[in-house]
Order: sequence, then C-alpha cells, then structure tokens
Amino acid sequence: ASRDVFASRPAMELADGLILGQGVPLVMAGPCSVESRRQLLETARGVKASGASVLRGGAFKPRSNPYAFQGLGSEGIALLLEARKATGLPIITEVMAPEDVEWLAPHVDILQVGTRNMQNFSLLKALGRVDRPVLLKRGMASTVDEWLQAAEYILAGGNSRVVLCERGIRSFDKSTRNTLDLSVIPLVKSLSHLPVVVDPSHATGRRELILPMSLAALAAGADGLIIEVHCAPEEALCDGPQSLDIPAFAALMGRVRHLAGAL
Ligand code: PEP
Ligand code: MN
Repeated sequence: ASRDVFASRPAMELADGLILGQGVPLVMAGPCSVESRRQLLETARGVKASGASVLRGGAFKPRSNPYAFQGLGSEGIALLLEARKATGLPIITEVMAPEDVEWLAPHVDILQVGTRNMQNFSLLKALGRVDRPVLLKRGMASTVDEWLQAAEYILAGGNSRVVLCERGIRSFDKSTRNTLDLSVIPLVKSLSHLPVVVDPSHATGRRELILPMSLAALAAGADGLIIEVHCAPEEALCDGPQSLDIPAFAALMGRVRHLAGAL
C-alpha cells in the first residue's frame, strides 16, 4: 500500500511534550563532540535561542583514526547534563558499546546509533531493552532493507521508539563527504511507520551545503534534522568543516520555519 509521505506519522514522543512526526519538523543541533564546558554551553545556548528542540553532542566518538580525539566519555555526559539544565533542551548522544546502554539510558533523552554501528546487533539488542528513543543512523554502505531490519532488532526487543536517520552513503565521488540519499526519505516512509530525520552535516561534510540540503530533506518529507553547530567551527576538534556557526544556524532555522509553513 502506498502512503502519503507528507501525512502525519504516528505520534512519537521523544521527551516530555516533544513530538516527532506531527508535521512540525524538529531540529536537533549541537557540536559533533563535547569538547569543554565553555564550548558546549555557548553552543547549547546558541542553538536554543535559534529554535532547536534537542541538543546533540558526542561524548563517545567513533573516530576512524585511533589517535584522533576520542571524546570526553563520561565527563562529556556530565557536561551534557549541565547544558540540559542550563537550557532546558533534551539531549541526544551516541552510545557505541552494548555495556554502556543500561547505565547511560536513564541519564539522556535520546540515544544515537552511529553509522558504523548500524549492524552491531549486540548493541541493537541492548537498545531494545531500554525505555529511551533511539536515533538509528543508516550504515554508510547499507541497503534500505538492512536498515529497516536493524530497526526491527530494537523494536523486537520491546522498544517502540526508533527514529531512522539518513546521513549519506559512500559513493565514488569525494567532492562531498558522502552522498545524501534524498530518495530514501519518501521511500522509507512508504515502507515503515517510523519517523525519518536527515543529517545533512555528515551527508555533505561541507557547511555551505547544509542549508540547501536541509530544505531539500524537509521538502522530501523528512520529519526532522540533526545538524552540527559549533560556537567556533575553526577550533572544532572534530568535523569543523561541516559545522555551522551560531549565526548561520539561526539563519537556517529561519528558512526551515518558512519552508515548514509552506509544506
Ligand atoms: C556524529 O553524529 O557525530 C557521527 C559520528 O555520525 P555518523 O555516525 O553518521 O558518522
Ligand atoms: Mn560529527
């Protein structure tokens, strides 16, 4: 059966009163990585003032290079909790290890599974057992079928709150970091009841492409966006070239609100 991809999704409450899939796009924003109290609080206040609904920030970072900054770990989680208290924004952060799921879940509002872990079945099973929404990024070389089956692992475990996130897939062309598969948004919405959000930051790797790809994602039916924002992108320890500064994010939010009203 085909479904209207712009029709409202079944309501999914991500945190108190925060509903995804009801026609108002939700925007999650914040730094790639939690780096310091000052960096996180300044960025959190900036994204909140611009209208973001959720603060993102990685504490456990899945870096390709073992010598690159690996994140602040549990110290980063403590800073996220401080930023949540300061701004009132719910927080989303990546969990990489199955053994971290149980202790981390009660502290954070939304758990993120990174592209590299989409088929970490032990992790997915652990996430099926907790009462927290899970943002499941599409594997960078995964088919739609594999992505939906990964979601099914979490659902089958008893956790019904899975959010699908398209973050770009590998292609031959390195002029962008990945290739944003926009067609997957309406496709997945015709196959599944789950909400779909788009990460234009990792999809493109280039900050000048974030605004147009954000608007394109919403026009294609995305229920929300997750965007990297840094108070000083040139100083970022990770993913600076794809991070928006706060004025650019504020401008993007203005365009998003305008477009959302027209859809
Ligand atoms: C991230 O969100 O910072 C991240 C590591 O994303 P991905 O898993 O999509 O590479
Ligand atoms: Mn990143």
